[in-house]
Amino acid sequence: MHIQANYPLEKHNTFKINVNAQYYVEIFRQSDITVLRSDLTLASLPWRIIGGGSNMLFTGDIKGVVVHCGYKQIKIVKEDADNVWVSVGAGNDWHELVEWSVNHGYWGLENLALIPGDVGAAPVQNIGAYGSEARDAITRVQTLNLFNGERREFRNADCNFGYRTSIFKQEYTDRLVVHRVTFRLHKLHAGIPNIMYEPLKQALAEVPKADITPKMVFDEIVKIRRKRLPDPKNFGNAGSFFKNPVVNSEYFQEILENYPDIPHHKTLDGHFKIPAAWLIEAANWKGQRNGRAGVSNRHALVIENLGGATGQDIIELAQMIQDAVDHKFGIHLEPEVIFI
Ligand SMILES: Cc1cc2nc3c(=O)[nH]c(=O)nc-3n(C[C@H](O)[C@H](O)[C@H](O)COP(=O)(O)OP(=O)(O)OC[C@H]3O[C@@H](n4cnc5c(N)ncnc54)[C@H](O)[C@@H]3O)c2cc1C
Repeated sequence: MHIQANYPLEKHNTFKINVNAQYYVEIFRQSDITVLRSDLTLASLPWRIIGGGSNMLFTGDIKGVVVHCGYKQIKIVKEDADNVWVSVGAGNDWHELVEWSVNHGYWGLENLALIPGDVGAAPVQNIGAYGSEARDAITRVQTLNLFNGERREFRNADCNFGYRTSIFKQEYTDRLVVHRVTFRLHKLHAGIPNIMYEPLKQALAEVPKADITPKMVFDEIVKIRRKRLPDPKNFGNAGSFFKNPVVNSEYFQEILENYPDIPHHKTLDGHFKIPAAWLIEAANWKGQRNGRAGVSNRHALVIENLGGATGQDIIELAQMIQDAVDHKFGIHLEPEVIFI
């Protein structure tokens, strides 16, 4: 366990916002929590959990204790003719786990390649991309209670997985730290590729379906993502800044009258989901900047730190975008990124 005071978080968030945590603690095991809680100063402060900081916006120095789970073991805990169950420490890098899985010929995680962040955040966020979500492969999530170190295990059905959310994000934010996640992966002969996403289907159109491997899907996803998404290594960002808004059918018909080409997707409950990127582009914010923050010219849903931006700079720009979209379409964009 490592405890550091007045710790710079610039390298712990993909927005590259330069703030300090009053205390930063890396934990590895249950006993680390009980030891930390016996320190009266630390115990009296608020505690916050971070992973790789790829879905967060730090708005100022953080008072209290920032906790990161660094536990990294990867272990196959069970195997049958068609599947393996892999238990993975929360502190592993998500993309490295996906790479490990495809290099072993296992199906299940390949569509989620190149999503930044830690394995521990994957169930919290129920990460998803290209027709696949973390919940499809997760069987168990082992957590530690940040107040008393108590272990608790959740089966998939107990996790309340939803669109980019879970019980860990709804009920147990900053209370339960994910320590290990178990995934059921299919062996090479027992899995089938999930290539519903059109560009992926096209990229693999020449290969007979039976010859497609998880590594091939992984490689294509990496290519597609590198082409489409701005890389936080160039300009700090946290991926999609806003959620795609959902409007009721009545209001959607009104919008449709003025904007007949508006892209949309009907939800199961009869509402309409509209891509926030389209709304932002239509409100003329794609590629625009405000001081040290800007909207990516590759993807309108991504706000970038153009160099030395503070959390407040990003928030100011986000508000300008929200106002413009609200003014033009009467739709309020909700941030997907968590403000801290
Ligand atoms: C360029 C880019 C592309 C992205 N693309 C996608 C995408 O395609 N699909 C997608 O779903 N997301 C995407 N994201 C968002 C982000 O990568 C995911 O939400 C990711 O899971 C966040 O992981 P993290 O470790 O950085 O978590 P953080 O941002 O540090 O934290 C996110 C939340 O998880 C909690 N948390 C983190 N670790 C733990 C833990 N061990 N125990 C308990 N709680 C924890 C935090 O408290 C916080 O509430 C993208 C982000 C970027 C920057």
